[in-house]
Amino acid sequence: MLELIKNKKLFPLSIFLLLALVYFQIIFPKNAWTQTATVSIPATVTTVANKGNGVLDLLGRFKLAKNMQNIEYFQGINSGSFDRNGGLLLGNTYILPIKIVRFDGSTIRSTLNITDFDLAKKIENYNLEVEKTKLKKGHYKTTKELWVPFEILLLDSNDFADFNKKKTSKREPQVDYSFLKDAKISRTSKDLEGVAFYIIAGHGGPDPGAIGNRDGFELHEHEYAYDVSARLAKRLIENGADVFMIIQDPNDGIRDEQILRNGGNERMINGDAISPIQIERLKQRTDIVNDYAQRNTNKYKHQALIEIHIDSRITDRRVDIFFYHRSGCARSVKLSKDLLNTIEEKYRKAQPNRGYSGTVSARDLFTLRNTTIPAIFIELGNIQNPADQIRIIEPNNRQAIANWLCDGIIKHFRK
Ligand SMILES: [Zn+2]
Repeated sequence: MLELIKNKKLFPLSIFLLLALVYFQIIFPKNAWTQTATVSIPATVTTVANKGNGVLDLLGRFKLAKNMQNIEYFQGINSGSFDRNGGLLLGNTYILPIKIVRFDGSTIRSTLNITDFDLAKKIENYNLEVEKTKLKKGHYKTTKELWVPFEILLLDSNDFADFNKKKTSKREPQVDYSFLKDAKISRTSKDLEGVAFYIIAGHGGPDPGAIGNRDGFELHEHEYAYDVSARLAKRLIENGADVFMIIQDPNDGIRDEQILRNGGNERMINGDAISPIQIERLKQRTDIVNDYAQRNTNKYKHQALIEIHIDSRITDRRVDIFFYHRSGCARSVKLSKDLLNTIEEKYRKAQPNRGYSGTVSARDLFTLRNTTIPAIFIELGNIQNPADQIRIIEPNNRQAIANWLCDGIIKHFRK
C-alpha cells in the first residue's frame, strides 16, 4: 500500500481502497460476520437409556425432580420414542426437559430476561450441581452454556432470540376470518353475540396427531379436526360470536372431500411457526389463548376455549363423541354437559335405535390446566376404527357434528 501511495499516479486509487476498507468495517463489523459461526452450543441435553432404565432414572441422573410434570415434559419432547407400554427403548437417545441457552456473559437474569433473583439463583445452583458431577462440562460462565430445566423456568420459544423480542401489545386482537377462505358467511342469528371462542384444532404443523388407515390412504387426525373446527367456527360466527382460530392452515379452508390431503404447513394465529418440540407447541397455544383472552376481557361478556381431537384406540373399539373439562371449573363442566345432552338428543332423533355412550369427565390436560377461561376438550371418535372413520371422512357428517356442537353451545349461552 505504501508503495502505491508513493506512486503519484495510483494515489487516488489507494485512497479509494482505504476508504472502502473503513466503510466495510463499519457496515459489517467483524463480530457480525463471526457471531453465528462461533456458536457451537448444542440445542438439547440428551442421554442414552441403558438396560432397566425408566423415565424416572433418566430424570434422576440429571438431578431433575421425579414428578408428574417432568414425566409429562419428558414424554412430550420424546413422543414417538417409547415402546407400546410407554417404556424406554434400550440404547435410544432421549432429550431431557432442559433448555440450553447461550449465557450473555453478564448475569443469568439478563440472559433470560427475568427479574426474579431467587429464580436466577435456582438456575445457577442447578448448573453448579450438574457441573460438579461432570454431567455438564465446564462452568457456564466459561463455556457460555447455561442449562435451564423446564421445572424451574419454562421458556416459551424454540428460538431464544424471539423470546427477548416478544411483543407485548395491549390492543384487542383483530377478528380475521381469512382462514375460512372463500366460504360465504351468512348471519343467521344473534344468539352468540358478545361471546368469543378460541378454537384449537388438535396437533398441526410438524405433528399430524393420530394416523388412521383407510383404502390405502393415511388419515391424519389434525386434518379432520381442522375441518370440523373450521365448520364449527363458521357456524358460531353465523350466530353472532367472534372466533379466534388458534391454528390456521394457509391453504385449506373447509374441504368437501372424504380423504383430506395431509398438509403440515399450519401456523399459529399470530403468524408464528409451530414449534417442532411438543411441550413448546402446547405452551405456544395456551400462551396465545391467555394473551388474547386477557386483551379481550372488556370486549366480551363470555369467552370459552374449545379444543378438538380425534382419538386413537385399538382398531375394533368404537368411541362416541366425548368431552373433557377442567377439573373444578363449573362453567367448563356445564358447557360439556350441555354439549353431551344436545348430541344425545340429536342422535335420538336421527338414529332412534343407535344409542349414544359419550361421556363427560375431568382431565388434567395441558391446555385445560394452563388456561383460565372456561375450556373443553372434545374427542370425535377413534381414527383407527372403520365405523368411526365414516363419522369423520364423510363431509356431511363433519358438518352435522359442527352443527350439533354449535346448537349445544347456543343452548348453553342462551340461558
Ligand atoms: Zn389428538
